[in-house]
Amino acid sequence: MNNKIYIANWKMNITSKEANSFFEKFLSLYQSSHNKEIIFCPSFTTLFSSKKNKLLNNSENIYLGAQNVNNKKSGAHTGEISVSMVKEIGIDYCIVGHSERRSIYNESNQIVNEKLKLLIENKIKPILCIGETLEQRESNDSDKVVLNQLSCCLDGVSPSEIIIAYEPVWAIGSGKNANIDDISNMNKVIKNHMNKLGYIDGQFYILYGGSVNIDNLSTINKASFLDGFLIGGASLRPENFWNIIKI
Ligand code: PEP
Repeated sequence: MNNKIYIANWKMNITSKEANSFFEKFLSLYQSSHNKEIIFCPSFTTLFSSKKNKLLNNSENIYLGAQNVNNKKSGAHTGEISVSMVKEIGIDYCIVGHSERRSIYNESNQIVNEKLKLLIENKIKPILCIGETLEQRESNDSDKVVLNQLSCCLDGVSPSEIIIAYEPVWAIGSGKNANIDDISNMNKVIKNHMNKLGYIDGQFYILYGGSVNIDNLSTINKASFLDGFLIGGASLRPENFWNIIKI
């Protein structure tokens, strides 16, 4: 894959009104490039309003994604959003298994697996987040943890396009990014495993996420088998995010 993918995970930030100002500024700077794809993942309410943003919809290589969906098709799940609801908005991508969902909302690999199946059935491309905690890293268990996450989350999922974001939990929002060797090694582990599961190159993309910013992006970009970045904090300001993509 020659395209670099840049995903903005806005988490529980940026209201619909703020997103309109963000996009106005961002698109005044934005120059479309055939080898870069940008995916904005706002909250559900901002996702809905962003889909109606004419400026955004007319911009090449910019897509929208949800940050989460429920693992059940419908029913008594007060406060939850189903895959068919996000599908109706007309989005292309959805993050699943983000470490904040796993740690704060107790999402297991089994739940992530159910979400993946529903997303693929509904032709929404999953962005599957995996990564080890600091404790697991310090016990030299990073590869084992990531491989287990991949096996469980992809169990019974037939190979179809998927984005995998390797996000070491200790690097998310901490200001401490993983180094190139760690990222390259893990990307190789992920790639080999995906090939063993029957995914051919080009059917899966591997991104890195965890404290990516304007100062460390060029260095991280040299890691092997890296198709792009999942960016949280540094995607919240239009100038900042555009400067990162422009590099
Ligand atoms: C994330 O939210 O997945 C993330 C990588 O955040 P940050 O870039 O702020 O570390």
